[in-house]
Amino acid sequence: MADKKIEEYTLEDAVELLKTNVDTIIVIDSTNNTYRALVRRGFFTNHLDETGNYHDLIEKLWFHLANSNEKVVGDYKSFVSYYGDFKGKYSRRLKLYKEGSTEPSIIQLNVYPIKGTDKYLFTMDELAEEYKQEYMTSGKVNTIQNTYLFSMYVDLVQDTTGSISVTEISDDTVNANLKYSEWRMMIVNAIGPEDKEQFLRVTDPEYLKAHLAPGRMTSFDCQMANLEGKFIWVKLIFSRAETTDEEDFRFVFLVQDINENSEELFSTLKKYEHLALTDSLTDIMNHGSIKTDIKNSIGLLNKDGTQVALLMLDLDHFKNVNDKFGHATGDAVLKHFAELLKDCAVDSDASVGRWGGEEFVVVCRGKQFEEVKERAEKLRQMVEESEFPEIGHITCSIGLTEVKQGDTFETAFNRMDRAMYLSKENGRNRVTIL
Ligand code: GH3
Ligand code: MG
Ligand code: MG
Repeated sequence: MADKKIEEYTLEDAVELLKTNVDTIIVIDSTNNTYRALVRRGFFTNHLDETGNYHDLIEKLWFHLANSNEKVVGDYKSFVSYYGDFKGKYSRRLKLYKEGSTEPSIIQLNVYPIKGTDKYLFTMDELAEEYKQEYMTSGKVNTIQNTYLFSMYVDLVQDTTGSISVTEISDDTVNANLKYSEWRMMIVNAIGPEDKEQFLRVTDPEYLKAHLAPGRMTSFDCQMANLEGKFIWVKLIFSRAETTDEEDFRFVFLVQDINENSEELFSTLKKYEHLALTDSLTDIMNHGSIKTDIKNSIGLLNKDGTQVALLMLDLDHFKNVNDKFGHATGDAVLKHFAELLKDCAVDSDASVGRWGGEEFVVVCRGKQFEEVKERAEKLRQMVEESEFPEIGHITCSIGLTEVKQGDTFETAFNRMDRAMYLSKENGRNRVTIL
Protein backbone atom coordinates (compact mmCIF):
# COMPACT_ATOMS: atom_id res chain seq x y z
CA MET A 1 0.00 0.00 0.00
CA ALA A 2 2.95 2.24 -0.55
CA ASP A 3 1.84 5.80 -1.13
CA LYS A 4 -1.40 5.25 -2.98
CA LYS A 5 -3.84 8.01 -3.76
CA ILE A 6 -7.06 7.67 -1.85
CA GLU A 7 -8.91 6.86 -5.08
CA GLU A 8 -6.79 3.72 -5.44
CA TYR A 9 -7.62 2.20 -2.07
CA THR A 10 -9.99 -0.75 -2.06
CA LEU A 11 -11.91 -2.55 0.61
CA GLU A 12 -9.35 -5.35 0.36
CA ASP A 13 -6.67 -2.85 1.35
CA ALA A 14 -8.68 -1.93 4.42
CA VAL A 15 -9.06 -5.58 5.40
CA GLU A 16 -5.35 -6.12 4.86
CA LEU A 17 -4.59 -3.08 6.99
CA LEU A 18 -6.72 -4.37 9.84
CA LYS A 19 -5.20 -7.84 9.55
CA THR A 20 -1.69 -6.52 9.82
CA ASN A 21 -2.31 -3.75 12.34
CA VAL A 22 -4.76 -5.02 14.89
CA ASP A 23 -3.12 -7.33 17.46
CA THR A 24 -6.08 -9.63 17.86
CA ILE A 25 -9.34 -10.22 16.06
CA ILE A 26 -11.61 -12.85 17.53
CA VAL A 27 -15.17 -14.01 16.86
CA ILE A 28 -17.34 -14.73 19.86
CA ASP A 29 -20.34 -17.01 19.94
CA SER A 30 -22.26 -15.62 22.89
CA THR A 31 -24.73 -18.53 23.03
CA ASN A 32 -22.07 -21.19 23.34
CA ASN A 33 -19.69 -18.84 25.10
CA THR A 34 -16.83 -19.76 22.76
CA TYR A 35 -14.35 -17.76 20.73
CA ARG A 36 -12.05 -18.32 17.81
CA ALA A 37 -9.09 -16.08 17.03
CA LEU A 38 -8.69 -14.98 13.42
CA VAL A 39 -5.64 -12.86 14.10
CA ARG A 40 -3.13 -13.20 16.95
CA ARG A 41 0.03 -11.22 17.14
CA GLY A 42 2.36 -9.37 19.45
CA PHE A 43 1.44 -9.45 23.07
CA PHE A 44 -1.40 -11.86 22.47
CA THR A 45 0.36 -14.62 20.56
CA ASN A 46 1.52 -16.30 23.75
CA HIS A 47 -1.54 -15.60 25.84
CA LEU A 48 -4.38 -16.44 23.58
CA ASP A 49 -5.25 -19.94 22.36
CA GLU A 50 -6.75 -20.11 18.91
CA THR A 51 -10.08 -21.33 20.26
CA GLY A 52 -11.58 -21.56 23.73
CA ASN A 53 -14.15 -20.48 26.27
CA TYR A 54 -14.86 -16.77 26.10
CA HIS A 55 -15.38 -16.17 29.82
CA ASP A 56 -12.22 -18.10 30.58
CA LEU A 57 -10.42 -15.85 28.20
CA ILE A 58 -11.72 -12.72 29.88
CA GLU A 59 -10.87 -14.12 33.28
CA LYS A 60 -7.43 -15.10 32.12
CA LEU A 61 -6.82 -11.65 30.74
CA TRP A 62 -7.90 -9.90 33.90
CA PHE A 63 -6.92 -12.17 36.73
CA HIS A 64 -4.30 -14.73 35.84
CA LEU A 65 -2.42 -12.86 33.25
CA ALA A 66 -2.57 -9.70 35.30
CA ASN A 67 -0.35 -11.21 37.97
CA SER A 68 -1.38 -8.28 40.09
CA ASN A 69 -3.77 -7.54 42.91
CA GLU A 70 -5.25 -4.58 41.16
CA LYS A 71 -8.87 -5.27 40.37
CA VAL A 72 -10.64 -3.81 37.37
CA VAL A 73 -13.88 -5.58 38.12
CA GLY A 74 -16.22 -2.91 36.81
CA ASP A 75 -14.48 -2.70 33.47
CA TYR A 76 -14.05 -6.42 33.21
CA LYS A 77 -17.73 -7.03 33.86
CA SER A 78 -18.84 -5.12 30.84
CA PHE A 79 -17.32 -7.74 28.59
CA VAL A 80 -19.18 -10.61 30.14
CA SER A 81 -22.61 -10.55 28.60
CA TYR A 82 -24.45 -12.18 31.48
CA TYR A 83 -23.84 -9.12 33.62
CA GLY A 84 -26.04 -7.33 31.18
CA ASP A 85 -23.90 -4.22 30.96
CA PHE A 86 -22.74 -4.72 27.47
CA LYS A 87 -24.98 -3.94 24.51
CA GLY A 88 -24.16 -3.16 20.91
CA LYS A 89 -20.89 -1.65 19.78
CA TYR A 90 -18.42 -1.02 22.51
CA SER A 91 -15.03 0.50 22.87
CA ARG A 92 -12.81 0.85 25.89
CA ARG A 93 -9.23 1.23 27.03
CA LEU A 94 -8.10 -1.01 29.84
CA LYS A 95 -4.99 -1.73 31.81
CA LEU A 96 -3.42 -5.15 31.49
CA TYR A 97 -0.33 -6.37 33.30
CA LYS A 98 2.08 -8.56 31.43
CA GLU A 99 3.64 -11.37 33.38
CA GLY A 100 6.33 -10.11 35.71
CA SER A 101 5.61 -6.51 34.90
CA THR A 102 4.37 -3.93 37.37
CA GLU A 103 3.83 -1.39 34.60
CA PRO A 104 0.48 -1.85 32.89
CA SER A 105 -0.03 -2.12 29.17
CA ILE A 106 -2.98 -0.22 27.81
CA ILE A 107 -5.26 -2.25 25.60
CA GLN A 108 -7.85 -0.80 23.30
CA LEU A 109 -10.86 -3.10 22.97
CA ASN A 110 -13.56 -2.77 20.36
CA VAL A 111 -16.64 -4.92 20.09
CA TYR A 112 -18.84 -5.12 17.02
CA PRO A 113 -22.03 -7.17 17.20
CA ILE A 114 -22.65 -9.16 14.02
CA LYS A 115 -26.14 -8.04 13.14
CA GLY A 116 -28.93 -10.60 13.42
CA THR A 117 -26.70 -13.17 15.13
CA ASP A 118 -25.54 -13.92 18.63
CA LYS A 119 -21.96 -13.36 17.54
CA TYR A 120 -19.49 -10.56 18.07
CA LEU A 121 -16.28 -9.44 16.53
CA PHE A 122 -13.84 -8.50 19.23
CA THR A 123 -10.59 -6.67 18.55
CA MET A 124 -7.75 -5.98 20.96
CA ASP A 125 -4.84 -3.70 20.34
CA GLU A 126 -1.99 -2.75 22.58
CA LEU A 127 -1.40 0.99 22.61
CA ALA A 128 2.06 2.28 21.84
CA GLU A 129 4.05 3.84 24.66
CA GLU A 130 3.20 7.44 23.69
CA TYR A 131 -0.55 6.82 23.92
CA LYS A 132 -0.10 5.02 27.20
CA GLN A 133 1.16 8.21 28.79
CA GLU A 134 -1.84 10.08 27.45
CA TYR A 135 -4.19 7.46 28.86
CA MET A 136 -2.68 7.65 32.33
CA THR A 137 -2.83 11.44 32.31
CA SER A 138 -6.39 11.61 31.12
CA GLY A 139 -7.30 9.18 33.90
CA LYS A 140 -5.95 11.61 36.46
CA VAL A 141 -7.65 14.53 34.79
CA ASN A 142 -10.90 12.62 34.95
CA THR A 143 -10.53 12.04 38.66
CA ILE A 144 -9.94 15.69 39.30
CA GLN A 145 -12.64 16.70 36.90
CA ASN A 146 -15.09 14.54 38.79
CA THR A 147 -15.24 17.26 41.39
CA TYR A 148 -13.69 20.31 39.75
CA LEU A 149 -14.65 20.31 36.11
CA PHE A 150 -12.78 23.42 35.34
CA SER A 151 -10.54 25.98 36.98
CA MET A 152 -8.67 29.13 35.98
CA TYR A 153 -7.19 32.40 37.10
CA VAL A 154 -9.00 35.56 36.22
CA ASP A 155 -7.58 39.04 36.30
CA LEU A 156 -10.39 41.54 35.92
CA VAL A 157 -8.11 44.53 35.48
CA GLN A 158 -6.06 42.97 32.69
CA ASP A 159 -9.16 41.14 31.40
CA THR A 160 -7.16 37.92 31.17
CA THR A 161 -7.58 34.28 32.08
CA GLY A 162 -4.92 31.67 32.76
CA SER A 163 -4.84 28.00 33.47
CA ILE A 164 -4.21 26.81 36.96
CA SER A 165 -1.12 24.66 36.98
CA VAL A 166 -2.25 21.56 38.73
CA THR A 167 0.54 19.27 37.65
CA GLU A 168 -1.71 16.40 36.62
CA ILE A 169 -3.88 18.56 34.42
CA SER A 170 -2.52 19.33 31.02
CA ASP A 171 -1.70 22.97 30.55
CA ASP A 172 -3.99 23.60 27.63
CA THR A 173 -7.17 23.21 29.71
CA VAL A 174 -7.59 26.94 29.37
CA ASN A 175 -6.40 28.99 26.46
CA ALA A 176 -4.12 31.54 28.05
CA ASN A 177 -4.87 34.10 25.36
CA LEU A 178 -8.54 34.18 26.12
CA LYS A 179 -9.85 37.41 27.53
CA TYR A 180 -12.11 37.08 30.54
CA SER A 181 -14.82 39.09 28.80
CA GLU A 182 -14.67 36.74 25.79
CA TRP A 183 -14.61 33.66 27.95
CA ARG A 184 -17.70 34.86 29.75
CA MET A 185 -19.70 35.36 26.55
CA MET A 186 -18.53 31.97 25.32
CA ILE A 187 -19.39 30.01 28.44
CA VAL A 188 -22.82 31.60 28.83
CA ASN A 189 -23.90 29.44 25.87
CA ALA A 190 -23.39 26.34 27.99
CA ILE A 191 -25.39 27.68 30.95
CA GLY A 192 -28.97 26.44 31.37
CA PRO A 193 -31.58 28.80 29.88
CA GLU A 194 -33.08 29.67 33.25
CA ASP A 195 -29.69 30.52 34.74
CA LYS A 196 -28.17 32.59 31.93
CA GLU A 197 -29.34 35.92 33.27
CA GLN A 198 -27.99 35.29 36.74
CA PHE A 199 -24.73 33.95 35.31
CA LEU A 200 -24.18 37.16 33.38
CA ARG A 201 -25.04 39.24 36.42
CA VAL A 202 -22.69 37.53 38.89
CA THR A 203 -19.81 37.11 36.43
CA ASP A 204 -19.95 40.75 35.40
CA PRO A 205 -16.52 42.27 36.19
CA GLU A 206 -18.06 45.35 37.81
CA TYR A 207 -20.35 43.21 39.94
CA LEU A 208 -17.45 41.04 41.10
CA LYS A 209 -15.33 44.07 41.88
CA ALA A 210 -18.10 45.66 43.91
CA HIS A 211 -19.19 42.56 45.78
CA LEU A 212 -16.12 40.54 46.56
CA ALA A 213 -13.61 41.76 49.13
CA PRO A 214 -10.03 40.44 49.02
CA GLY A 215 -9.73 36.90 50.33
CA ARG A 216 -13.48 36.29 50.09
CA MET A 217 -15.37 33.70 48.11
CA THR A 218 -18.76 33.61 46.46
CA SER A 219 -20.58 30.89 44.58
CA PHE A 220 -23.78 30.13 42.82
CA ASP A 221 -25.40 26.93 41.58
CA CYS A 222 -26.69 26.59 38.06
CA GLN A 223 -27.15 24.12 35.28
CA MET A 224 -24.45 23.76 32.68
CA ALA A 225 -24.19 21.56 29.60
CA ASN A 226 -21.54 18.87 29.89
CA LEU A 227 -19.60 17.49 26.94
CA GLU A 228 -22.53 15.32 25.93
CA GLY A 229 -24.82 18.34 25.89
CA LYS A 230 -26.70 17.16 28.97
CA PHE A 231 -27.39 19.77 31.63
CA ILE A 232 -25.85 18.98 34.98
CA TRP A 233 -25.83 20.97 38.22
CA VAL A 234 -22.59 22.77 38.89
CA LYS A 235 -21.35 25.21 41.49
CA LEU A 236 -19.53 28.22 40.07
CA ILE A 237 -17.03 29.49 42.61
CA PHE A 238 -15.21 32.82 42.56
CA SER A 239 -12.48 33.34 45.09
CA ARG A 240 -10.66 36.68 45.25
CA ALA A 241 -6.95 36.72 45.93
CA GLU A 242 -5.83 38.07 49.30
CA THR A 243 -4.44 41.52 48.62
CA THR A 244 -4.03 44.97 50.14
CA ASP A 245 -3.96 46.62 46.74
CA GLU A 246 -7.39 48.03 45.99
CA GLU A 247 -6.74 47.84 42.29
CA ASP A 248 -5.83 44.15 42.40
CA PHE A 249 -8.74 42.10 41.15
CA ARG A 250 -7.34 38.63 40.67
CA PHE A 251 -9.67 35.70 41.15
CA VAL A 252 -9.63 31.97 41.07
CA PHE A 253 -12.61 30.57 39.28
CA LEU A 254 -13.77 26.96 39.71
CA VAL A 255 -16.63 24.91 38.32
CA GLN A 256 -17.55 22.06 40.61
CA ASP A 257 -19.77 19.14 39.66
CA ILE A 258 -22.56 18.94 42.26
CA ASN A 259 -25.06 17.11 40.09
CA GLU A 260 -25.49 13.99 42.18
CA ASN A 261 -26.08 15.84 45.45
CA SER A 262 -28.36 18.37 43.79
CA GLU A 263 -30.57 15.71 42.25
CA GLU A 264 -30.92 14.13 45.67
CA LEU A 265 -31.69 17.48 47.26
CA PHE A 266 -34.32 18.31 44.66
CA SER A 267 -36.08 15.01 45.04
CA THR A 268 -36.18 15.55 48.83
CA LEU A 269 -37.54 19.05 48.30
CA LYS A 270 -40.17 17.67 45.91
CA LYS A 271 -41.22 15.20 48.61
CA TYR A 272 -41.61 17.99 51.18
CA GLU A 273 -43.42 20.13 48.66
CA HIS A 274 -45.84 17.28 48.05
CA LEU A 275 -46.37 16.84 51.79
CA ALA A 276 -46.99 20.56 52.24
CA LEU A 277 -49.64 20.65 49.53
CA THR A 278 -51.40 17.37 50.20
CA ASP A 279 -54.01 16.31 52.70
CA SER A 280 -52.40 13.51 54.67
CA LEU A 281 -55.56 11.44 55.14
CA THR A 282 -56.93 11.48 51.60
CA ASP A 283 -53.80 12.26 49.55
CA ILE A 284 -55.64 14.95 47.57
CA MET A 285 -54.93 18.70 47.67
CA ASN A 286 -55.22 20.22 51.12
CA HIS A 287 -57.13 23.34 52.13
CA GLY A 288 -54.28 25.73 51.29
CA SER A 289 -53.47 24.30 47.89
CA ILE A 290 -57.07 23.99 46.68
CA LYS A 291 -57.67 27.57 47.80
CA THR A 292 -54.66 28.68 45.74
CA ASP A 293 -55.96 26.63 42.86
CA ILE A 294 -59.36 28.37 42.98
CA LYS A 295 -57.64 31.76 42.98
CA ASN A 296 -55.35 30.78 40.10
CA SER A 297 -58.30 29.48 38.10
CA ILE A 298 -60.23 32.71 38.63
CA GLY A 299 -57.10 34.56 37.50
CA LEU A 300 -57.04 32.43 34.37
CA LEU A 301 -60.70 33.21 33.63
CA ASN A 302 -60.10 36.93 33.97
CA LYS A 303 -56.99 36.68 31.79
CA ASP A 304 -58.05 34.50 28.88
CA GLY A 305 -61.69 33.60 29.49
CA THR A 306 -61.10 29.95 30.54
CA GLN A 307 -64.41 28.64 31.86
CA VAL A 308 -64.28 27.83 35.58
CA ALA A 309 -66.87 26.07 37.74
CA LEU A 310 -66.66 25.37 41.47
CA LEU A 311 -68.27 22.49 43.31
CA MET A 312 -68.52 21.97 47.03
CA LEU A 313 -69.44 18.52 48.26
CA ASP A 314 -70.41 17.80 51.86
CA LEU A 315 -71.16 14.31 53.11
CA ASP A 316 -74.65 13.97 54.55
CA HIS A 317 -75.07 13.07 58.22
CA PHE A 318 -71.44 12.15 58.43
CA LYS A 319 -71.44 12.61 62.18
CA ASN A 320 -73.67 9.55 62.36
CA VAL A 321 -70.98 7.48 60.64
CA ASN A 322 -68.49 8.36 63.34
CA ASP A 323 -71.03 7.83 66.09
CA LYS A 324 -72.14 4.47 64.77
CA PHE A 325 -68.95 2.94 63.35
CA GLY A 326 -66.17 4.88 65.04
CA HIS A 327 -63.71 7.48 63.88
CA ALA A 328 -61.41 5.04 62.04
CA THR A 329 -64.27 3.91 59.82
CA GLY A 330 -65.18 7.55 59.29
CA ASP A 331 -61.62 8.13 58.08
CA ALA A 332 -61.86 5.18 55.70
CA VAL A 333 -65.07 6.61 54.25
CA LEU A 334 -63.40 9.98 53.67
CA LYS A 335 -60.54 8.26 51.86
CA HIS A 336 -62.90 6.25 49.73
CA PHE A 337 -64.91 9.35 48.88
CA ALA A 338 -61.75 11.20 47.84
CA GLU A 339 -60.88 8.30 45.54
CA LEU A 340 -64.29 8.56 43.86
CA LEU A 341 -63.77 12.29 43.30
CA LYS A 342 -60.30 11.75 41.89
CA ASP A 343 -61.59 9.11 39.48
CA CYS A 344 -64.31 11.46 38.26
CA ALA A 345 -61.86 14.27 37.63
CA VAL A 346 -59.23 12.15 36.00
CA ASP A 347 -60.18 12.79 32.37
CA SER A 348 -60.71 16.53 32.70
CA ASP A 349 -58.81 19.61 33.75
CA ALA A 350 -60.05 19.61 37.30
CA SER A 351 -58.52 19.83 40.76
CA VAL A 352 -59.84 17.98 43.75
CA GLY A 353 -59.19 19.08 47.31
CA ARG A 354 -60.33 18.55 50.87
CA TRP A 355 -61.65 21.83 52.23
CA GLY A 356 -61.81 20.40 55.74
CA GLY A 357 -63.61 17.67 57.70
CA GLU A 358 -66.10 16.03 55.34
CA GLU A 359 -66.19 18.92 52.88
CA PHE A 360 -64.54 18.69 49.49
CA VAL A 361 -64.04 21.13 46.61
CA VAL A 362 -63.67 20.45 42.90
CA VAL A 363 -62.39 23.15 40.54
CA CYS A 364 -63.37 22.47 36.95
CA ARG A 365 -61.64 24.32 34.10
CA GLY A 366 -62.35 24.62 30.40
CA LYS A 367 -65.71 22.88 30.34
CA GLN A 368 -69.10 24.21 29.17
CA PHE A 369 -71.24 24.83 32.24
CA GLU A 370 -73.99 22.57 30.84
CA GLU A 371 -71.57 19.69 30.84
CA VAL A 372 -70.36 20.47 34.36
CA LYS A 373 -73.99 20.41 35.56
CA GLU A 374 -74.49 16.96 34.06
CA ARG A 375 -71.27 15.72 35.58
CA ALA A 376 -72.21 17.08 39.01
CA GLU A 377 -75.53 15.25 38.88
CA LYS A 378 -73.81 12.04 37.75
CA LEU A 379 -71.29 12.40 40.54
CA ARG A 380 -74.08 12.75 43.12
CA GLN A 381 -75.76 9.63 41.72
CA MET A 382 -72.54 7.70 41.69
CA VAL A 383 -71.86 8.50 45.36
CA GLU A 384 -75.39 7.47 46.25
CA GLU A 385 -75.02 4.15 44.44
CA SER A 386 -71.49 3.38 45.59
CA GLU A 387 -70.91 0.69 48.14
CA PHE A 388 -68.69 2.04 50.92
CA PRO A 389 -66.83 -0.62 52.89
CA GLU A 390 -68.32 -1.18 56.37
CA ILE A 391 -71.03 1.47 56.19
CA GLY A 392 -72.79 0.57 52.94
CA HIS A 393 -74.24 3.75 51.48
CA ILE A 394 -73.81 7.45 52.04
CA THR A 395 -74.95 10.53 50.14
CA CYS A 396 -73.56 13.99 49.62
CA SER A 397 -74.95 17.48 49.07
CA ILE A 398 -73.44 19.51 46.28
CA GLY A 399 -73.27 23.24 45.64
CA LEU A 400 -72.29 24.30 42.15
CA THR A 401 -71.54 27.67 40.64
CA GLU A 402 -70.07 29.01 37.46
CA VAL A 403 -67.39 31.64 38.00
CA LYS A 404 -68.13 34.85 36.09
CA GLN A 405 -65.90 37.63 34.82
CA GLY A 406 -65.42 40.06 37.68
CA ASP A 407 -65.88 37.42 40.38
CA THR A 408 -63.39 37.43 43.23
CA PHE A 409 -62.45 34.43 45.29
CA GLU A 410 -64.90 35.52 47.99
CA THR A 411 -67.91 36.16 45.75
CA ALA A 412 -67.50 32.90 43.84
CA PHE A 413 -66.74 30.83 46.90
CA ASN A 414 -69.68 32.23 48.89
CA ARG A 415 -72.07 31.45 46.04
CA MET A 416 -70.88 27.86 45.91
CA ASP A 417 -71.08 27.57 49.70
CA ARG A 418 -74.64 28.96 49.77
CA ALA A 419 -75.66 26.57 47.01
CA MET A 420 -74.35 23.65 49.09
CA TYR A 421 -76.34 24.80 52.15
CA LEU A 422 -79.48 25.10 50.02
CA SER A 423 -78.97 21.44 49.04
CA LYS A 424 -78.84 20.59 52.76
CA GLU A 425 -81.92 22.68 53.52
CA ASN A 426 -83.88 21.15 50.71
CA GLY A 427 -83.39 17.59 51.91
CA ARG A 428 -79.72 16.74 51.11
CA ASN A 429 -78.45 14.35 48.42
CA ARG A 430 -78.95 16.92 45.68
CA VAL A 431 -77.14 19.44 43.47
CA THR A 432 -77.98 23.14 43.79
CA ILE A 433 -76.77 25.66 41.26
CA LEU A 434 -76.37 29.33 42.01
P1 GH3 B 1 -74.75 17.34 57.37
O1 GH3 B 1 -75.53 16.39 56.56
O2 GH3 B 1 -75.58 18.48 57.84
O3 GH3 B 1 -73.51 17.76 56.72
O4 GH3 B 1 -74.36 16.53 58.72
P2 GH3 B 1 -72.94 16.10 59.14
O5 GH3 B 1 -73.05 15.19 60.31
O6 GH3 B 1 -72.19 15.56 57.98
O7 GH3 B 1 -72.27 17.48 59.52
P3 GH3 B 1 -71.62 18.01 60.82
O8 GH3 B 1 -70.95 19.29 60.43
O9 GH3 B 1 -72.61 18.09 61.94
O10 GH3 B 1 -70.55 16.95 61.22
C1 GH3 B 1 -69.41 16.72 60.49
C2 GH3 B 1 -68.69 15.58 61.14
O11 GH3 B 1 -67.53 15.22 60.41
C3 GH3 B 1 -68.25 15.89 62.52
C4 GH3 B 1 -66.84 15.35 62.63
O12 GH3 B 1 -66.72 14.43 63.67
C5 GH3 B 1 -66.68 14.65 61.34
N1 GH3 B 1 -65.29 14.78 60.85
C6 GH3 B 1 -64.67 15.90 60.49
N2 GH3 B 1 -63.39 15.61 60.14
C7 GH3 B 1 -63.24 14.26 60.28
C8 GH3 B 1 -62.15 13.37 60.07
O13 GH3 B 1 -61.05 13.74 59.66
N3 GH3 B 1 -62.35 12.06 60.33
C9 GH3 B 1 -63.54 11.59 60.78
N4 GH3 B 1 -63.67 10.30 60.98
N5 GH3 B 1 -64.56 12.42 60.99
C10 GH3 B 1 -64.43 13.74 60.74
MG1 MG C 1 -71.73 16.90 56.39
MG1 MG D 1 -69.78 19.88 56.86
